[in-house]
Amino acid sequence: MKNIVIVTVLIFSLFSYQTNTLASTHSREVYEKTGHVFWEVNTNQKIVALTFDDGPHPIFTPQILDILAKYNAKATFFVAGNKVIRFPDLLKREVKEGHEIANHTYHHIYGNMTSEKLSSELEETDKIIKKITGFKPSLFRPVGGYYNDLIINTALKNGKVVVLWTWGQDTRDWADPPVSQICNTITKGVKPGNIILFHDWHGSEYTQTCQTVKALDTILDFLYKNGYKCVTVSELLYRSTQIIPDTYEIFPI
Ligand SMILES: [Zn+2]
Repeated sequence: MKNIVIVTVLIFSLFSYQTNTLASTHSREVYEKTGHVFWEVNTNQKIVALTFDDGPHPIFTPQILDILAKYNAKATFFVAGNKVIRFPDLLKREVKEGHEIANHTYHHIYGNMTSEKLSSELEETDKIIKKITGFKPSLFRPVGGYYNDLIINTALKNGKVVVLWTWGQDTRDWADPPVSQICNTITKGVKPGNIILFHDWHGSEYTQTCQTVKALDTILDFLYKNGYKCVTVSELLYRSTQIIPDTYEIFPI
């Protein structure tokens, strides 16, 4: 009996491993042609989108919101459902202050993912966001920025636009690098239409410090002094000069 259980578990694990890892991955260009997957947008206007993943965080998200308010900068928060349910007032504040809320799954699971599991993660997160804010998010960012046909297809079938980030505009702030390093990532390479990646769920709760919070004022000061305006991802997409197709293909899985 024990052996049967072990063999069953092994077969199931192998199947679920293959479901995910055997899903093929197309090039960025192929996904971009769907008109529903973005790394950045083409625009002549000096606009960029700041994005914050994994929150809301009870200490650092309010600090980030305070700094954004100082510049009247709008951002997009890719929230995890399991944090949202713990800190609903922060989600309400984000919406009230003109920021965009986007879906970053419920449990923020790395690794194996089936289409059914991802759909349920998206639905569960949409549901809690809608309950708290009255809005259903249209944007989705996969966990760890990891994508393949299965993930993209499932997101598209769920009516989502998939948003990654500009290559070179990943601050890697989750690893708590020096503040200067976070700032330099942006000040040395930012271009109109970029989507910039931050995280609001990291830092030390013991010392109550977060490198992202420390860097943000300097970054916003730089952006605004250089004529940039920070807008939500949806506004960035709306103001894009790219021709975005009305229909999109679903890749065979
Ligand atoms: Zn994340």
